[in-house]
Amino acid sequence: MIGLTAAQWQAITTHLDSQLPNEACGLLGGKVGQTLAVYCVSNADASPTRFSMEPGELIRTLIEIEDRGWELMGIFHSHPAGPPTPSATDIAEAYYPDSAYIICSPGEGGWQARAFEIRDGAAREIDLRIEK
Ligand SMILES: [Zn+2]
Repeated sequence: MIGLTAAQWQAITTHLDSQLPNEACGLLGGKVGQTLAVYCVSNADASPTRFSMEPGELIRTLIEIEDRGWELMGIFHSHPAGPPTPSATDIAEAYYPDSAYIICSPGEGGWQARAFEIRDGAAREIDLRIEK
């Protein structure tokens, strides 16, 4: 399970909107299923169909999460043309089996999100709770 507050979800969707039509990405820091910070990261690919996190921002964010004594709770990115499920590339490039992969795509009334654990080349959906 991974949880997001309404304010955190708002921060994520604002970032996703700002990067359209390209995919947008970022990281979630926190502890035991509780997200404590949302970090928006630039998509170095600047592409509507793929992303790679800008390496300097990625490293600075991972260091900050570690310095705070937190864990990398999640990795989010958007699929502007859907679907909100991991692509073959997402699965092949998933290097954090203990983090939730949150994938967002446009749906009725705004962004929709689903969360997955990606381990050993397989994705399994996990519970994502967004506070209303
Ligand atoms: Zn993807």
